Formats: sequence, C-alpha cells, structure tokens
Amino acid sequence: MLKFAKKLEGFEESTIREMTRKAIVNQAINLSQGMPDFEPPQELIEGIIEAIEKKEHQYSITYGNYNLREKISEKLRGYNGIEVDPEDEITVCCGASEGISSSILSILNPADEVIIFEPWYENYTPITHIAEGVPKYVQLKQEDFSIDEEKLKEEITKKTKAIIVNSPHNPSGKVFSSKEMKLIADICIDNDIIAITDEIYEYIIYDGEKHISLGSIPGMEERTITISGFSKTFSITGWRIGYVAAEKKLMKGIRKVHDYLTVCAPSILQEAAIKAFDLKDDYFSQLVKRYQKNRDYLSKSLNELGFKTIIPKGAYYMFSDISNFKTRDTDFADFLVKNKGVAVVPGSSFYHTENDENIVCNYVRFSFSQKIETLEEAIFRLKERLL
Ligand code: GLN
Repeated sequence: MLKFAKKLEGFEESTIREMTRKAIVNQAINLSQGMPDFEPPQELIEGIIEAIEKKEHQYSITYGNYNLREKISEKLRGYNGIEVDPEDEITVCCGASEGISSSILSILNPADEVIIFEPWYENYTPITHIAEGVPKYVQLKQEDFSIDEEKLKEEITKKTKAIIVNSPHNPSGKVFSSKEMKLIADICIDNDIIAITDEIYEYIIYDGEKHISLGSIPGMEERTITISGFSKTFSITGWRIGYVAAEKKLMKGIRKVHDYLTVCAPSILQEAAIKAFDLKDDYFSQLVKRYQKNRDYLSKSLNELGFKTIIPKGAYYMFSDISNFKTRDTDFADFLVKNKGVAVVPGSSFYHTENDENIVCNYVRFSFSQKIETLEEAIFRLKERLL
C-alpha cells in the first residue's frame, strides 16, 4: 500500500494553479494565476530565434549562462544596490520559485522555524514543510498590511532560521517601507536570521512608491538571499528563468540543492533572456503605466459591483473583500468560475487555516496582468450575471 512521506501532510497542491485548470475546463476568463495574456517584448522573441541559431540545445553550466549572470549582477548593482560576483554569488534557476525552494532546502534543518508574513504567496509553506521546517506565521495588519512589530518579535525564537520577505507583496500589493525593511534587518542581525527575499514584482510598482531590497541594507549583505526573475517584468512566466543572489558561502549550499533539483534552467531561454537587458527605461515605465491603468479600471469596476478592493501599491493582484456577498471565499470562487465564467483565487489559500475565519474567508484575489479588453470582458460577465 502506497504511503506518501509524512511531510506531504502539511500542505495541498497549489489552489492558484488549480484555479487555472478550472478556468480551462469551464472556459472561464482566467484572472487567477498571475500571468499576462499578451506577447512579451519583441526583443525577447528575437532573442529566442538567435539562441536557436546559436544552437544552445544542451545544458548550460548548472549555475547559469555566464553572460546572463554578468548582466544580472550589473542590474543588481544598479537597481537593487546589491554587489555580488557573477562567478560565485549568482545562480540562474527555473523561475524564482525554484530559487526559493533551493534556498530554503539549503539552510533548514528539521524543526528550524521560518517566519512567513500572512497572507503569503502559496509556495513558501509547502517548501518549508518539505524541508521539515516549521512555518511561523506573522499576520500583517488588517488595515494596510503593514508589519505589526510586536507580533513579529513575539514569533522570533532561538529556532528561527529564516524570514521570507516578499515586496511588492502577493496577494495584497503592499510595498514594504524603508522603516519596515530596517526593522526586519535589525531583527535578522540581532538574532542571526537569514532573510530570503522574493522580489519578483520589483519593477511593478505604482504611485511613486520605491522598491527597496533588503540585501542593500548595511549588515544584510552576508545574510540575505535575494531572489527575482524575468517572469513578471518581461511577461515570460512560462520560460522559467529566475535567479538567486547571495554571498559566496550561502550560495555554495544553494548551488548544491539547485544542481540536483533541476541541473539548469533551459539554455535557449537563458541565452534569449540576455536580450532583456537591451530594453530601455521606457519599457519599464510603459509596463507600469499599463498595469496602473488595469488596476484603476478593475478597482473601480469591482467596487461598483459590491466588492471592496484594496488598492495595490505594487504587483498585479487585487485582493478584494467579498463580505457583501455573504458567502465563503471558496464557494464564491467556485461559483464565479462555473457560473460566471471568471476564475479568481479564494483568499484562504494565502492564509493558514487556524486563523480567524472572518479574515481568512472574506477575500478573493483578482489578477490584472491581462489585456484591458480581457478585464473588460470579465467585468461584463460579472455584471451580466451578478445583478
Ligand atoms: N505568482 C503567481 C500567482 O500568484 C503564480 C506563479 C506560479 O504559479 N508559479 O498567481
């Protein structure tokens, strides 16, 4: 009789990705999994063609294409204020998700604790369980998703090994302030904790907010694992090109895990991703403009329909309160995908279950990473059939 490993009991498969499957089956508009429905920049498409011509069909070295790592190091210096050596302090991974997995697996011993701000992006908890670590949840403040200093400090123990920091934050769109980053940095330094950052939405940021990388704060250089990737910024979520940057000693462990987990990210796509660095400032400002327009449209339209949206300062999700509809998030999401033809993610998949039901079950998450026409069609469907 087949018995799965005990550590699998702590989690289920991703609800986000399950909702995508349900969207396909129900021919619904997919506003669940965060992925664009428009083309990536032409430079990247040309990059693939050139990479094919260069016959990049075999494994890259496990740490990643060197030219790509060099470009990433320049970007980390210029945009993030992080100085790392492409030779031994950057590894290209299969998406930021693999970067997070390899990082957690490389530092946790059984029973080590990991601080996870709640709500959280789904991947952090399962991988902590797979590493036989213990997730310690710190709920962000209900009003504005800011950090509750007291709650955070309460969860720090001798067993705290790592803290995961995701800014801009999925699902709330919160962008952590310099004061909050400084607080996290001080706690990490005082308690010898490693910070793992998920900065995948670092360029998708609105209203003049600024992205701050925890690894750029003095004293954090040797204890921060900085993770980002190309998926969201360049609309290539299916390429699976992400990266991890960390000081040499930390990177040694991460590379060991990465080597056996995935060997390398796809070589052709690594080569093509180098082209992303040819894109000028205008590309990034247009991207933000596009998403800001989507954000404003979706927020206004959803509020008119009875949702209460939280206006995100970054990323491309709208966490929306559904208390007006007097139903649980999971039932509501199911109803929307089956009866309205619109797929969203139930909010409870960003919380652990022991929490206050009122908070946990009162949200659904809409992605606005799509074309505006797609969002308009989704709103049309909701209007037609909600009223
Ligand atoms: N980050 C995306 C989301 O929250 C999903 C990414 C993934 O499925 N790997 O929808």
